[in-house]
Amino acid sequence: MIQQVSLKVLPQEAFSDTAITKHAATSLGVKSKDIIGFHLLKRSIDARSRQQVYYVLTLQVFVNEPFHDRPHLSFRYDALKINAPAAIIIGAGPAGLFAALRMIELGIKPIVLERGKDVRSRRRDLASLNKTGVVNPDSNYCFGEGGAGTYSDGKLYTRSNKRGDINRILHIFCHFGATEKSCTTLIHISAPTNFHTLSPPCENKSKPAAVKCTSNKR
Ligand SMILES: Cc1cc2nc3c(=O)[nH]c(=O)nc-3n(C[C@H](O)[C@H](O)[C@H](O)COP(=O)(O)OP(=O)(O)OC[C@H]3O[C@@H](n4cnc5c(N)ncnc54)[C@H](O)[C@@H]3O)c2cc1C
Repeated sequence: MIQQVSLKVLPQEAFSDTAITKHAATSLGVKSKDIIGFHLLKRSIDARSRQQVYYVLTLQVFVNEPFHDRPHLSFRYDALKINAPAAIIIGAGPAGLFAALRMIELGIKPIVLERGKDVRSRRRDLASLNKTGVVNPDSNYCFGEGGAGTYSDGKLYTRSNKRGDINRILHIFCHFGATEKSCTTLIHISAPTNFHTLSPPCENKSKPAAVKCTSNKR
């Protein structure tokens, strides 16, 4: 049986497979040894209380069920026909770049016009901006390749589920080289506070998002 479960755990438990398995077992009313493995679907931080910060984990749990990898969405960006219809996109920010990818999927040739500079050159303009306070109107924190998204640290993302499939976007990131972990563990912080208390221990930073409990294998 495969079940989805949402757990609220302490920060020191959020990266421990053993602790997570134990909480999942309690929540599902089964024994820890019955949990063959789990996929971490989402990890967010509930920092609304000043007394205690929690991690909220959404898991897909395999209970007495052979563990298997999650199916990956695949994308094809084939070369377009020479006579493919073309469309012009203004701006190479996240919206423009994703629109361009979608057009390629649909067989339309995107022509992206960007007023700013490429990422590498933007860095020089930002250094100058920070030093002199003078803004280059075409190349700054918002204008240039990647748009404002270039200088986002990527920690936060939309909670909206009305405007498209977030999961698909995360898989596109993986298609272009992001780690598997990026597909599942983007963090949403419900009320930021005391960030220094939230860092996971260094040795856990590369934890995979899918966990097979080999010790529980029967
Ligand atoms: C410092 C910073 C940090 C951020 N951090 C986060 C974060 O952590 N998480 C998050 O989810 N969001 C974050 N955001 C917000 C996020 O970056 C924006 O929501 C996102 O970039 C909007 O994408 P967009 O493509 O709609 O527009 P933009 O990113 O603004 O892209 C528009 C593009 O169009 C170009 N352009 C404008 N006018 C013209 C023109 N006339 N001709 C040609 N090109 C033109 C611009 O140069 C730019 O490249 C952050 C924003 C900033 C500024």
